[in-house]
Amino acid sequence: MKYINEYRKPSTIKKIAKEIHIAAEQIPHTVNLMEVCGTHTMTIGRFGIRQLLPQNIKLISGPGCPVCVAPDEYIDTAIALSDNTDTIIATFGDMVRVPGSFSSLEKEQAKGKDIRIVYSPLEALDIAKGNPLKKVVFLGVGFETTAPTVALVIKKASVSEIKNFLVLAGHKLITPAMEALLEDREVKIDGFICPGHVSAVIGAVPYKHLTNLFCVPCVIAGFEPVDILEAILLLIKNLSINSNSVEIQYKRAVKEDGNRKAQEAMEEVFDVVDSEWRGLGMIRESGLAIKKKYRDIDAKYGLPVKLRRSKSRSECICGDILKGKKIPPACKLFGKACTPENPIGPCMVSSEGSCAAYYKYGG
Ligand code: SF4
Repeated sequence: MKYINEYRKPSTIKKIAKEIHIAAEQIPHTVNLMEVCGTHTMTIGRFGIRQLLPQNIKLISGPGCPVCVAPDEYIDTAIALSDNTDTIIATFGDMVRVPGSFSSLEKEQAKGKDIRIVYSPLEALDIAKGNPLKKVVFLGVGFETTAPTVALVIKKASVSEIKNFLVLAGHKLITPAMEALLEDREVKIDGFICPGHVSAVIGAVPYKHLTNLFCVPCVIAGFEPVDILEAILLLIKNLSINSNSVEIQYKRAVKEDGNRKAQEAMEEVFDVVDSEWRGLGMIRESGLAIKKKYRDIDAKYGLPVKLRRSKSRSECICGDILKGKKIPPACKLFGKACTPENPIGPCMVSSEGSCAAYYKYGG
């Protein structure tokens, strides 16, 4: 297939759905397949993929929405940095509405803090160049998809004359989170639909550790309905013969070894560290911190931070949703107090969040 319409063609979709139904008859019990990536969650909702599946095949959403997993502490730190009058915060748009423990960047912006939305870390570097008397802090969040670009900008800044550019490191690694979910006995996952964009960088190799350790099949999928249905079919076929392989459905973008250059950029700039995930808690070796060599650019060391925290918690159940333990309609605020216009938790804020997908497209 060459064109996007071919990946959305109703006759192809019906054909694969039929094959899924036939293959699922070989499995006498219910299986839970987790789509790890927020973009997959949106495609599943938008194209009604859940409704095409047999009763015994359930799709559950995982922790692959980058802003949803940023913990309160990260948002609180960004807000504390914005308290410095000589500091500009530069961030991707979704981040401004994510709640910390007592406020959000959007609310702080309304109070007059200099918080700007950018589309790339390079744009943040340009802001730093144009504002030499200010410190510009870029919020480095996301997974392996965005980490290489941020790494390259950190390298570029380190050899440039721009000395007022900093990064607040908050990147996460996807496979340690998948491992943490598999270790959690309250979450039953029989197979993973793995993220296509992340896998374009990391390749298929890191998932092999998971399949070997936990005996669950993984399929790396693209983002169109046919991609996702093909991935589901491959997972069901693997489950029916007890095979725990890692397969690449998204062959047009993902190579077995991933993108070596992007991996090298990350390895040069970041250390792998333990990291706190919203809803999932502290996960071993699941985050990226800026290496000592680039400490001048690390906002954690370069600026004073007077952290304000609040212990008051809302009734948001994003944590359980990110683990696949509950679905959004189980939250009593869903569609009532919490909507995309007035989001209470990050799963409703982000365009890739499960609550936003359920709200927009239904279950
Ligand atoms: S509906 Fe809103 S409050 Fe409820 S879990 Fe989702 S984001 Fe949180």
